Amino acid sequence: METTIDFVGCTRCGTRAEAQDRMPTPVRDLACFGRPTRLVWVKRRWRCVEPACDARTWTEQSTVIDAQVVLTRRAGIEACRQVGENARPVSQLADELGVCWWTVMNAVIEHGTPLVDDPDRVGAVRHLGVDETSFLKANREHSTIYATGLVDLENRIMIDMVRGNAAADLRRWTANTHPDWLAGIGIVATDLAESFRAGLSPHLDHARRVADPFHVVRVGNRCLDKVRRRVQNETLHHRGRKADPLYRIRKLLLTGDERLNDTGRNRMLLGLRVGDPNDEVAGAWLAKESVRDVYLADNRDEAALLLDKAIAGCAQDEVEEIRSLGRTLAAWRTEILAHHDTGASNGPTEGLNLCVKKVKRCGHGFARFEHYRLRVLLHAGGVTWPDQPRPPRIRTHHRRATPHSDA
Ligand SMILES: [Zn+2]
Repeated sequence: METTIDFVGCTRCGTRAEAQDRMPTPVRDLACFGRPTRLVWVKRRWRCVEPACDARTWTEQSTVIDAQVVLTRRAGIEACRQVGENARPVSQLADELGVCWWTVMNAVIEHGTPLVDDPDRVGAVRHLGVDETSFLKANREHSTIYATGLVDLENRIMIDMVRGNAAADLRRWTANTHPDWLAGIGIVATDLAESFRAGLSPHLDHARRVADPFHVVRVGNRCLDKVRRRVQNETLHHRGRKADPLYRIRKLLLTGDERLNDTGRNRMLLGLRVGDPNDEVAGAWLAKESVRDVYLADNRDEAALLLDKAIAGCAQDEVEEIRSLGRTLAAWRTEILAHHDTGASNGPTEGLNLCVKKVKRCGHGFARFEHYRLRVLLHAGGVTWPDQPRPPRIRTHHRRATPHSDA
């Protein structure tokens, strides 16, 4: 392909330019009929004939193909949409378009960054959710690296992702955020991490803090798991194996009591009788259920009563793990009960977490946090994608039931 323009003024002096020569420049366009498309743009070089002008020669430019870029603009935008909106792997797009991984990633960065940075992407937020996710699994060089996700709980939008899960990481983010925007936040829902509680101060001191029910229940579950594993180790001297009585009932133990049927409950009780000689696991199970009961309460007073009962019960227990659970619950009493006044929870973030996981899975683990953040925000950050031209619809031809229709 080539441009048809034949009258060009010098970019410096305006004198009519003369054609110098043409230069074939291959670019990649949108894939076509399932195959990569290669376009060759025979680029024109122009020359200024004015002797006093120092422009000499220049190459023509186009709005549809950026200089020094392998992909046409529309192919770059489409690659960005596929990777962002549809969370497809960069490598897949690279194969489809017949370019290298970096070409696609650069297109995602170039076209995606303005969408993510758009100040209208996130509006006023009243309920903020703070949740940690693992960014990189531990390996020989580093322990697990976490990221903190900030979520608009009402609109189910990932506002931002911060590297790290320490108080300082969260505080840095709030410090860099506009105070007026922060002032609009009435409720912050978090898990039971001291680092988040500390990190929200001082910029979000005005907001009501809520301990997310899902995470409160999980603290109970983790305590139960810990006790089960220890007892298993002490009685059998090895980690859980398929046939071990406690290992076999590990999922039943974590199932809510009201969801157990008779068969399940009997199996669980039998497993405990065989594998839990000192009733330690049974105690942890009761503690876990007492935590869950708090959320069955109809109102705050009832919930307070149940929570205090749970805390007192844990405090008197002989098992250290259960006493520790009690201390955690006591430390978060206000935030746990705040759920009953506000109804706020990180529930909506569960769906978002699935989105994040989808991005993470297709990225096969990200080496760069900025790429990870960009792709998560493109996928779950409420980005407004540019309109795509809609092709005219082809009308369906309805088959008529005529004697010849099968011919
Ligand atoms: Zn000139």
